[in-house]
Amino acid sequence: NADLAMYKAKQSGRNQTHFFTAAMQEHANQRMTLEQDLRHALDREQLEVFYQPVVHGRSGRITGVEALLRWHHPERGMIPPDAFIPLAEETGLIGAIGEWVLETACAQLRHWSDKGMNLYLSVNISERQRELGLEAQVVRDILERNRINPSQLVLEITEGLLLQDSEETIGWLNGFKQVGVNLAIDDFGTGYSSLSYLRRFPVDTLKIDREFVRDLNTDRYGDSLVSAIISMAASLELRLIAEGVETEAQRSTLAQQGCQFMQGYLFSRPLPAEELSAWLESYQPQRVQLSRVATPPP
Ligand code: C2E
Ligand code: MG
Ligand code: MG
Ligand code: MG
Repeated sequence: NADLAMYKAKQSGRNQTHFFTAAMQEHANQRMTLEQDLRHALDREQLEVFYQPVVHGRSGRITGVEALLRWHHPERGMIPPDAFIPLAEETGLIGAIGEWVLETACAQLRHWSDKGMNLYLSVNISERQRELGLEAQVVRDILERNRINPSQLVLEITEGLLLQDSEETIGWLNGFKQVGVNLAIDDFGTGYSSLSYLRRFPVDTLKIDREFVRDLNTDRYGDSLVSAIISMAASLELRLIAEGVETEAQRSTLAQQGCQFMQGYLFSRPLPAEELSAWLESYQPQRVQLSRVATPPP
């Protein structure tokens, strides 16, 4: 009867509420534990900066490296940045962590420069760092301390930051430009910035998101999207880097369409500093290019 049905519905509703509460509690606990762990990650030396080479697509020459953060968690193993950067941003820990990344990567670049390698360095920064003390002067101090020319540094910000279009953001970025640092828009094409938005910001470089690179050579829309981005970058006189280049087919299509710079597993994954040093020393652009072309059967 109706009463019984009502009773059952209420019961199951209650159980469901109970279930969701438990799941949410579990989630909250996990997050809190991770947050506690992240608070100590820096002083317990669990963070490490990896580096991925940026390559000139036609010649295969290495022009720079991007610093990518890793967390070696004592119990969970290596945690990728997508799994803890958002937490670092919410808690404000990204302030200290972000500055440490910049200092560490600049010291590493100094080391490579001393060995005669002429590279630029790209470092990701979060918009949250604006309120957390990452001022132009801080960047200038880090560069001076490590004797790095400002033009050797690129700061990468995501496209989302442009959409806010606030005077504060523009002022913040202009401060970096005054120091002589370059700015790149990361993951370009995933947000909704238009040409007019882009022109308002003092950026030098666009990085095409790997989503677009993945769609290359799959259908004609994939190709035309990328060529639209390439011609847009050219008309705005912006440097262009394609992210996530994994195959020779993607490399050659991009190069043919006029995209100069590339990054991706085809060349190298992000590596610890020591491993990248070894990789750089043995790297031979021509050899690598040729070996990627289908090898004839023995
Ligand atoms: P991102 O800056 O767009 O970095 C590129 C990501 O693509 C990296 O992931 C890199 O490992 C990955 N990748 C490179 N080549 C390939 C490829 O050929 N195929 C595929 N499938 N992936 C490729 P990662 O290292 O996991 O970093 C993820 C994101 O975390 C970064 O995206 C960046 O937004 C953020 N991040 C990393 N380090 C930092 C940091 O120090 N500070 C801040 N604020 N964010 C960081
Ligand atoms: Mg990046
Ligand atoms: Mg990206
Ligand atoms: Mg990203």
